[in-house]
Amino acid sequence: MTERPTVEPGRTSHGCAKTVYSGAWGGSPCARKGVNLENSEWWCKQHTPSLITAKRAADRAKWDAEWKRKNQVARERKQAESERDRRAACFPDLLAALKALLPTEHTGYVCAHFQEELKAARAAIEKAEGN
Ligand SMILES: [Zn+2]
Repeated sequence: MTERPTVEPGRTSHGCAKTVYSGAWGGSPCARKGVNLENSEWWCKQHTPSLITAKRAADRAKWDAEWKRKNQVARERKQAESERDRRAACFPDLLAALKALLPTEHTGYVCAHFQEELKAARAAIEKAEGN
């Protein structure tokens, strides 16, 4: 990685080795002081190759994590929609089955002990039918 800077005899500091482009006239040396020695050249904190590589890796990891999170959210939403559709498809059969369980004039005597449950079933059917 980075090496501690050593100042050559007769020099008190080094400039950054990076050429920067800020206009139409070609590049110019980065104006910052070189503080890290890598690949036999001095670099400022912004242009140190190993720091750039590390930052890119961190940015990439962050992007990957965000992509995975969004993908997971989308997958869960799709599963929720699929489950809602599956339940909605069951609705007619469930409603018919519940209605079939209600006592008729012929079976009413059987249900004398379930008045509260029958009341709840009738209310659920009315709600399901939008009444
Ligand atoms: Zn620089």
